[in-house]
Amino acid sequence: MNFYIMTLFPEMVLSGLKTSILARGMDNGYIHVEAYNIRDYADNKHNKVDDYTYGGGAGMLMQAQPIYSCYQDIMKNIKEKDPDASVRVVYVTPQGSVFNQNMVREFSQSDNIIFLCGHYEGIDERVLEEIVTDYVSIGDYVLTGGELPAMVMIDAISRLVPGVLNNEESAQTESFDDGLLEYPQYSRPEVWMDKKVPSVLLSGNHANVDVWRFEKSLERTKERRPELYEKYVETHPDEFTAKSLKKRRKILDRIAEAEEN
Ligand code: SAM
Repeated sequence: MNFYIMTLFPEMVLSGLKTSILARGMDNGYIHVEAYNIRDYADNKHNKVDDYTYGGGAGMLMQAQPIYSCYQDIMKNIKEKDPDASVRVVYVTPQGSVFNQNMVREFSQSDNIIFLCGHYEGIDERVLEEIVTDYVSIGDYVLTGGELPAMVMIDAISRLVPGVLNNEESAQTESFDDGLLEYPQYSRPEVWMDKKVPSVLLSGNHANVDVWRFEKSLERTKERRPELYEKYVETHPDEFTAKSLKKRRKILDRIAEAEEN
């Protein structure tokens, strides 16, 4: 999978992404990340890429031409490698749809994603109309630039590219995988600061562990993300029938009993 980043700060995104798991993913050829400096495409001798906004108002706006020329260069490179490759152009912006794990899954199906990082007051609307396929935000707050959002998205998408995570890292049950937050997890030692690892996790009874984890996921989601919990209840009625609730209750009671002894 190929990521291209149009930015005024290529060194920022590259240094942030070339570490740990993503660096290994790049070294092993599972993902390819290239940053293009929009300033290199300015058609004036001072490499100026911003100007005042028409109609007045504070702040400078990134101009259309350098971004469009940069985009054309990237597209040329992509099409030379594979004329049929799919390409999405994501403008990271607080005005976009808020990024979530469903979008991560959808984006991970694309061959190439070009991220456009704004700065200053943003970008001339005309070039956005011309090139952007997706407007995506990382949350309802305003940052100084699009570099961190692009890095966040590349990190999340890369985790779903086959080969990027190894077996130990590849988590089958992550938060959001099934619409719930993940259950609490523990590692050695068994007792830390007088806090014990729940004994069901040491019992070797996998069926009980699954029920306990599911219950903890439900509890945690209900407490921390009630809107996700409501949605889960609505979309998984089978889990909440009197019969399933009774079955789980019985196992949970047995687990609680064992915990006390
Ligand atoms: N004037 C713009 C507005 O009100 O929508 C905000 C511009 S912001 C200061 C500069 C750039 O940072 C944006 O062009 C965008 O690329 C990026 N940015 C800021 N907040 C963001 C967010 N929550 N998600 C994604 N990108 C963001």
